[in-house]
Amino acid sequence: MLPLKEKDKPIVQKLLSAGCCARCILRFCCVSVQAAYRQPQQDTLKELQAFISNTENTKSQDSAAADSTEGNYKSQDSAAADSTEENYKSQDAAVSEPPEDPPSKRAKLEPSETAAPSEEDSAAVVKLKDEESGVCVVCLGILQDLCGTPQAVKIGEAVKAEKYEFDSLVLSVSLPAQLCVREHSCWLHVKKELREKSVAADKDDVIQVKEAFKWIMQGPVAKELGGVAVVTRSLFEVGVEFTHPETDADCHFLASTCPDCFKPTKNKQSVFTRMAVVKALEKITDAKFLKHYPSPPAQPTSGCIPQDVQCLHVSVFVAGRYNKFCRSLPQTPWVIDGERRMESSVEELIAAPILTSFRATGFNFSSSGREDVDVRTLGNGRPFAMELLNPHRSRLSKVEMKQLQETINKSSDKIRVRDLQIVSREAMSRMKEGEEEKTKSYSALIWTQKPIQREDITFIDDIKELTLDQKTPLRVLHRRALAVRQRVIHSMNTRFLDSHHFYLGLKTQAGTYIKEFVHGDFGRTKPNLCQLLKTDTDILELDVESVDVDWPPSIPE
Ligand code: ZN
Repeated sequence: MLPLKEKDKPIVQKLLSAGCCARCILRFCCVSVQAAYRQPQQDTLKELQAFISNTENTKSQDSAAADSTEGNYKSQDSAAADSTEENYKSQDAAVSEPPEDPPSKRAKLEPSETAAPSEEDSAAVVKLKDEESGVCVVCLGILQDLCGTPQAVKIGEAVKAEKYEFDSLVLSVSLPAQLCVREHSCWLHVKKELREKSVAADKDDVIQVKEAFKWIMQGPVAKELGGVAVVTRSLFEVGVEFTHPETDADCHFLASTCPDCFKPTKNKQSVFTRMAVVKALEKITDAKFLKHYPSPPAQPTSGCIPQDVQCLHVSVFVAGRYNKFCRSLPQTPWVIDGERRMESSVEELIAAPILTSFRATGFNFSSSGREDVDVRTLGNGRPFAMELLNPHRSRLSKVEMKQLQETINKSSDKIRVRDLQIVSREAMSRMKEGEEEKTKSYSALIWTQKPIQREDITFIDDIKELTLDQKTPLRVLHRRALAVRQRVIHSMNTRFLDSHHFYLGLKTQAGTYIKEFVHGDFGRTKPNLCQLLKTDTDILELDVESVDVDWPPSIPE
């Protein structure tokens, strides 16, 4: 039994005539019992027809019954048409009627539409008009033939084909925007009826097509995928999309009634996004809407076209520390004027095995600072994190992560990775937080123009907390704003090599430009090593010895 009340009868009547499918009628009667949607639509249709014919048999003949005499029904099932008074007519006739027409007028105008009784008995068994598509005027077929076992099989196959790893999924449904227009049109149709009966009505109580679709499909999809939980929140989303080109133009009148809602955006193909249409429908008055659009909506000739099933797993985040042992390896792909300058990069070397393991479709790489192409990163390495996009596999054990780390390390001698682990999106922000205050240690090979002796440089070891004024270096001026930044060198130490060379160790505030401190950058960094040593100096090699960020947590070997 459908959970319908007496007050629903005129609505059922009216929507059946309008060409709504059985499930859409349940929606507009605000039926929230999921099982009612799951039963075969033919059964629901039968029940609905039986439900309204009861009205006519009982002598509670109010206006609802009057309405029923001009009701239009399309039914494939003659058994359902056991009423003696129902009249059937084509959808086209109903649609061509101005929406404001009172029911009585319609009844008077169309007496010839009344069907002849069948030969068998006096029941008005009427056949469907051949040209009628039977596609629901509101859901455009989505709650009819587009939800059921065949569709569940198709979804199941699409998911299985991609070999995702998941234990639950959320079904998402993308509907053509014009469905909102049709829904609104149908709602106005129902609202008029309810107003006449002084029944309070709230559009929000109408069950959404999406909702009903999910109620129907959850079970069959779960079954296809071996009993996996189909839930409302999951890391894994299976998207079903429908389009209906035939009625795309349904939305167009809204652009003239509510131009504010339809601003062209970069990424969207059409301005008629669902969001924009919903917004415009919230703004438009009923009268204005009805001036531009029929209520109930016109009968379509075809149903929606289901698009390819789209699967998406939320990102997985992986973090670790890397060493870079090569002086000709950029951190990220180095492309100038569309041409690649170096054959590889740190992020690509790290990413390739990770992408393979997680079967992800892409990644975003970030790190705690970065080194120049000719700078090595030694010591414990530089913290990095990667967002793996749409990973088909999302859980690797600690052992598997260890193996993955080994795979990366075996794949190239230019880099090395440690502490590789899966982290949360939130944890990733810890890498960037307080970056300015962190310290970094460097080792630089220095050349001096004037010959030096061991004791000429020892005073440097005593310099502590040296504050530098660094104008944006010339070499990065093309991509960074001109500014003077203060950075602190906490301490330095020297190791004499020969009369023109020594090693300089530095512990600095993150973000200090080391090369510029050494050569002075034409006086743009002050003080600089040239001033301190009273001779021209240059930097021949630079290594990052440590990046003092205590994230990600270290993993014991
Ligand atoms: Zn429908």
